[in-house]
Amino acid sequence: MSNPLLEKDYLHRLGVVPFHLIKTEHYLPAIEKNLEIARKNFEEIKNNSEPPTFENTILEMDFAGEELDYVASVYFNLLAAESDAEYKALAQKISPMLSEFGSSIMTDEVIFSKVKTVFENECLNKEKPEPDFKNKKQMLRCERYRFTEKVYKSFIRNGALLNAEDKKRLTDIDIELSKLGPKFSDNVLDATNAFELHLTDPQDVEGIPESALSAALFRAKQKGKDSGWLFNLQAPNMIPVLTYCKNRNIRETLQKAYASRAFKDKFDNQENIKRILQLRKERATLLGFQTHAHYVLKERMAANPETALSFLERIYDFVYPKAKAELLEIKALAKEMDDLEDFMPWDYNYYSNKLKEKKFHYDPEQLRPWFKLEDSLEGLFLIAQKIYGITLKQVDDVPVYHKDVTTWEVYADDNSFLGLLYLDMFPRETKRGGAWMNTIYGQGLYKDGMKRPHVVNIASLTPSTDEQPSLLRFEEVRTIAHEFGHALHGLFSNCHYKALAGPSVLWDFVELPSQIMENWLLEKEALNLFARHYQTGEPLPDELLDKVLAARYFNVGNLFLAQLRYAMLDFAWHLTDPNEITDVAEFENKTIERFSLLPFTPNSNISCCFSHIFAGGYSAGYYSYSWAEALEADAWSLIKEKGIFNHEVTYAFRDIILAQGNAVHPMDLFVAFRGRQPDPDALLKRGGLI
Ligand SMILES: [Zn+2]
Repeated sequence: MSNPLLEKDYLHRLGVVPFHLIKTEHYLPAIEKNLEIARKNFEEIKNNSEPPTFENTILEMDFAGEELDYVASVYFNLLAAESDAEYKALAQKISPMLSEFGSSIMTDEVIFSKVKTVFENECLNKEKPEPDFKNKKQMLRCERYRFTEKVYKSFIRNGALLNAEDKKRLTDIDIELSKLGPKFSDNVLDATNAFELHLTDPQDVEGIPESALSAALFRAKQKGKDSGWLFNLQAPNMIPVLTYCKNRNIRETLQKAYASRAFKDKFDNQENIKRILQLRKERATLLGFQTHAHYVLKERMAANPETALSFLERIYDFVYPKAKAELLEIKALAKEMDDLEDFMPWDYNYYSNKLKEKKFHYDPEQLRPWFKLEDSLEGLFLIAQKIYGITLKQVDDVPVYHKDVTTWEVYADDNSFLGLLYLDMFPRETKRGGAWMNTIYGQGLYKDGMKRPHVVNIASLTPSTDEQPSLLRFEEVRTIAHEFGHALHGLFSNCHYKALAGPSVLWDFVELPSQIMENWLLEKEALNLFARHYQTGEPLPDELLDKVLAARYFNVGNLFLAQLRYAMLDFAWHLTDPNEITDVAEFENKTIERFSLLPFTPNSNISCCFSHIFAGGYSAGYYSYSWAEALEADAWSLIKEKGIFNHEVTYAFRDIILAQGNAVHPMDLFVAFRGRQPDPDALLKRGGLI
């Protein structure tokens, strides 16, 4: 029986994935087969009697797992984007298989001794090459150095120096962790899907905007209800209710359901959290680190938890009083409007939006008609063209895994092919919440030559209904811009070695390319390029645009405070000895108290659905959002100063920050672009907090 995941000659266009042919039952045999290939390749590297070199060791190792990486990347992409129960269950087999294989390489003494020899020859006994971004040859030297160093460090960080017994324990820990991550996020998704609110009384939905109601009506019909509106906990469905629904009880019901997902219900994640923390701590101890956070931060721009914490604490000092003052104003309005005394979390979105309307005289819902999804995408592509000279061409002959997915070829200003972009923009029960970018193929050197990247952008935006197309909230347009920024980081990558390409940078740098894209949407010159009314074609009225821009820092204190709450909670979990944690909820509440201005939603818990840190790559890394935002604010100030479409500065950003991937340390990239070290207060200055 042929298996499309093993067909090599399918590669009719630089290896597009034959999504239309792949079935769940193809994965396991493909993984098994490709594991066998990878093992054989590593045996050959081990048995090579020549002295170890960069080429016969580091590079060959990079090639050795190519087939395996391909199938794994397809599997994990769809696990998040389009997976049913059967598909998800497979992760409990595939994850440990991959983890065990990874550990077997990382703890292999023969391979490590070869890597060590190459590291000594290429890095220890050689001067570190200085980057020169216009000199391709010099950059190749930098890459070779950094790649070798990266591989050597990853062996050390994965136990190569441990004794046999400890190596075995480390492998067991990794295998167990590899199963717990998918388990955790499955619970979150199942808990999200388990809740539905069917409303039939028009009084209950008073205030909810027409667009959200027609979506809820459509949903009710889809689910076989005769009448009424069906709400759930997916963002496009839930946010309009929390923001606009006049009926306080409905807001309360939804908020409580959302905030208690996977906590004390049948998808409870508390035990998973405890186990994950135990294993991470044990892992860190084995490797000689005080805590998991110390282990993680060793390979970050911040370098240690203390630096990251003092960065966050400084923001806190400015943000807390600001947030407090903002909340007083919101509460005062609640009192004035509805005589509300006991302000609760489910009142926050509602009254802060009312205050925004009062102060800036516009309702964000008013903007939707100017931001039809297709127009917004086109607008974003047009902006990218003006910034970086690229062109996107929609293609319809690339196989996709769901009918909602569209595919785009991306071309550089000299018409060379940059890569392939998949867009998957609407919510589904088979898709995780939130928005993200993923790489299917990274850019760089493969066994059979250089390849351009294939990347995906995934989101859950307001879907279209029978009556109207997908009309987005402005925040949703920002979300696409953000993810498109990550995609560009992948697409512009111009590295030689794929292990260094695109977003494979130090984690606290990775949000710079994404967050910076959002800035253009807050510029008149850029918005005027595309914001047109979907029915009349009328441009976004200047007056409305001015209000949007005037309101951009509305409630900035509370928004920052929420980010700090997550970042500090993440650090608290990963800096504390898990043996001291008996109760998940109690630990969380104690930690976030300083960062919370409202009473807690009863029976709520953030950690139990905090997939970023318990199932994604953000453990001891949530601070990266704020860290990278500070870099981004500083980088943006230069672009703003020189002109937002000035190629002198935008092309420099493209060629230094976006194209160099992890060829050198991110600080070198930043300094080369900005002409100096980052300004630590750029973020606070931009938000008007300092
Ligand atoms: Zn991001």
